[in-house]
Amino acid sequence: MTSVFTRIVRGEIPAFKLYEDELTLAFLDINPAARGHTLVIAKPELPGLLDLPPELVTATALTTQRVARAIVAALKPDGFNIIQNNGSAAGQVVFHFHIHIIPRWEGDRSVKLWRPG
Ligand code: AMP
Repeated sequence: MTSVFTRIVRGEIPAFKLYEDELTLAFLDINPAARGHTLVIAKPELPGLLDLPPELVTATALTTQRVARAIVAALKPDGFNIIQNNGSAAGQVVFHFHIHIIPRWEGDRSVKLWRPG
């Protein structure tokens, strides 16, 4: 089955894209936990971290750092969380590898960091 993220990669459904290269894509989460909540995906449709070949582990980590740097420069959060869910027991809903970047501000303790699927 084609994942919703593959459909974004193909341009079949819209997304607010922040960064794209040959192997990765970053776009805003449609249901953000905080302002600027961004997803970094591997373009190939692989479900989780353990399915990724080394070059995609490297590529998604580098894109995560690059995009986090841009988010910090643009939104000036006090910090940020990196979250990556594997398996429905861990709250994974979209089975296409992705990393969450969630900007955080002092006093935003109401941000719900994980919402079980
Ligand atoms: P996870 O629980 O780690 O699988 O997270 C999946 C994330 O994908 C959730 O935070 C959703 O809000 C997000 N999401 C689902 N569909 C879309 C979409 N079409 N565009 C952007 N984000 C999406």
